[in-house]
Amino acid sequence: MRAIPILIFLFILIGCKNEKKKVTLNQLITHYNKIEVPQSYSIDFTNTRFVPYQVYDYKNVDGLTANHIIEIDGKRKQAYNKRLTNVAGGFEFESITAVKDTTAIDYSLNKIWDGNFITSLDAKEEYNYLQKTGQRKLSVFEAKKLLETPKDSLIYVFDSKTLDAIITKNGKKDTLVYTFSTQPIQLKEIKNSAESRIFKNFKTYKGFSYASEYSYVKNKDTTTTPLKVKINSFKEIDKIDANKFSTPKGYTFEKPIVNKDKLSKIGKNTYIIRDFKRGRNVLFVVKNNVITVIGAPVSNTYSKEVIETIEKKFPKGKIKFVYVTHMHNDHIAGLQEYANKNATIIADAFTIEGIKDFDQFKETSNQFKFKTIKDREIFNGIQFHYPKNRHCKMQGFAYIIKDQLVYQGDFMQVSSNLTVPSILPEATKHFIERIYEDKLAVKTVIGQHQAGNEIPMTFLNKYYKKHQ
Ligand SMILES: [Zn+2]
Repeated sequence: MRAIPILIFLFILIGCKNEKKKVTLNQLITHYNKIEVPQSYSIDFTNTRFVPYQVYDYKNVDGLTANHIIEIDGKRKQAYNKRLTNVAGGFEFESITAVKDTTAIDYSLNKIWDGNFITSLDAKEEYNYLQKTGQRKLSVFEAKKLLETPKDSLIYVFDSKTLDAIITKNGKKDTLVYTFSTQPIQLKEIKNSAESRIFKNFKTYKGFSYASEYSYVKNKDTTTTPLKVKINSFKEIDKIDANKFSTPKGYTFEKPIVNKDKLSKIGKNTYIIRDFKRGRNVLFVVKNNVITVIGAPVSNTYSKEVIETIEKKFPKGKIKFVYVTHMHNDHIAGLQEYANKNATIIADAFTIEGIKDFDQFKETSNQFKFKTIKDREIFNGIQFHYPKNRHCKMQGFAYIIKDQLVYQGDFMQVSSNLTVPSILPEATKHFIERIYEDKLAVKTVIGQHQAGNEIPMTFLNKYYKKHQ
């Protein structure tokens, strides 16, 4: 039994030792006060998002990356951002934002989606946004920001066992808990009720250290997207290279002409509903008062508006079918409204499985009616095609045979002014090749995401040919 007094003695000894290592709130404040984060800097970082309903296979979620280079000139209030965002299927959205004086421009480098169009932005707003985005990637900046807030709004606890300093800050909406390790002083976690941001792999730069990696981890079941961030480099700069602000050659500020009609007849029995607020198209085919809707995107609010438009135009018609191209969230989230109308959902087997497993439909999908279709199947004058592609395990397009129209979701994203992009994404390639292989007589392609512009087949031929 002699071991117990020895143990007590040891605990006291360790306790005293840790008492010496105690870090007070004032010491922490002084530590971060001394650190100066450069006013002008360049930061290169990669975000990796894990969104089950935006990847190839929702059951086997691979991350989608976005690489950013942000340069900030704090003296001259100039900013530059080059980013490459990957969307499944080989869609690499490569864009530039440049802010100088009162001008801010934004354009696509490879002309996917935005073509050769330059968007003007609010210079002040954009500068502040990029400046904050860059700084917030650094754990040291987050720590400085916290310790600059009035002391009496912070609750401070030093844990003598772990030697961690824990600061609680009660915000308007939520409580934030910051945990610092103190040997050496480093911010290791910021936690709120929904998620934790966990910092790791610290790097030292000009007398301070920052986490070169961090991840967001959910604390409860929320819609927050798990995200990983890796800081590839951070360095002080003198200024931003002047030619980064120049307007690119062959680009234009002139807005492309789009068809502003909300509802148009575009085939013998086919109509298009253009939604400019959400930048999306929905088609519907009417035959003997039976209505088939093609595309059910984004939200129930949106679907309600579409249904109202259809019912106003065809009061005697009945929406019996709705077709969805693939199970990504922005293409299925509006399905409930159609199910409420007792419409049958037309889709392939994989998409149907995805709809049944979708969080939003867990309670209701057992009442959904489905019609499973196979590749090249024809139903109500519409042929459904499923070319192989890396955007989604099963992605289809609808070919309205008599009207020589194709409706597609995420096979192709081109600009409204029909600029040929400098890359041909894998999904786009297989989409065009299927039209060729099956010798489909197509005149026009309607994209869900291309409100105001229907794409002539001649453009697809030109686009494909340029990349051979
Ligand atoms: Zn998609």
